[in-house]
Amino acid sequence: MILFQVPPPTRYDLRFTIAGIPIRVHPLFWVISFLFGFSSNNILYTFIWVLAIFVSVLVHELGHAFAFRRYGLRSSIVLHFMGGLTVPESVSWGGTWANVALSPREEIVVSLAGPFSGFLLATLLIGGVIVSGGSIAVNWLLGFIPLPAVTSLPFGGVMLTVLVAILVSVNVFWGLINLVPVYPLDGGNVARYALMQYDPYDGVRKSLQLSVIAGGIVALVALFFLKSIYMSFLFGFLAFQSYQTLQNRYGRF
Ligand SMILES: [Zn+2]
Repeated sequence: MILFQVPPPTRYDLRFTIAGIPIRVHPLFWVISFLFGFSSNNILYTFIWVLAIFVSVLVHELGHAFAFRRYGLRSSIVLHFMGGLTVPESVSWGGTWANVALSPREEIVVSLAGPFSGFLLATLLIGGVIVSGGSIAVNWLLGFIPLPAVTSLPFGGVMLTVLVAILVSVNVFWGLINLVPVYPLDGGNVARYALMQYDPYDGVRKSLQLSVIAGGIVALVALFFLKSIYMSFLFGFLAFQSYQTLQNRYGRF
């Protein structure tokens, strides 16, 4: 999702594998998730948030990892304090190590596989809720972006309803956020490789310009319409970072 380098291993890392993909969870992941979901009047609610964030970030990164595997690249997943990261490993060819570069089209598929595995999870959960007789409402973000909200389940009690509701809204909302064409979100990668295909010479610069503009627009929308200072600051920072990259690399916008 959003970090640029892999945090070094610690002795408190949780390590396990899913379908042969090594996964490492940095201790700060739990701390930040706990703070994010913190609710002083219901600590159980906080732990449900932590579980939902863990599952959501893992599903997102597994999407990237399975897409890498489809193109013959092994990868490993790190969950850290700013989300998750899927890192492809070098591939051995007859004893010599080489990095196998993906084509732009393959890079786009790998980038989209993260958000879309979250959408898939949300769709399966919504299907399960509907089939089992639960109810779903739709909130319209900014009047045109549908955000499904699970309001009740016929079984499992309040806590299961809360877990499913958080999983659905987090996977839809974060998936959409990740598709905004801003570096280093997945949407920024999609924009880079898409623009490179149309314009091999100047595509990267155009994707950085797009990142500045899109990041700035989302920062303003978040501040004035969503009233989210955190989201506004995050996108403002990412836009500024893209602007700096443009200046450093090209000496102009
Ligand atoms: Zn991603």
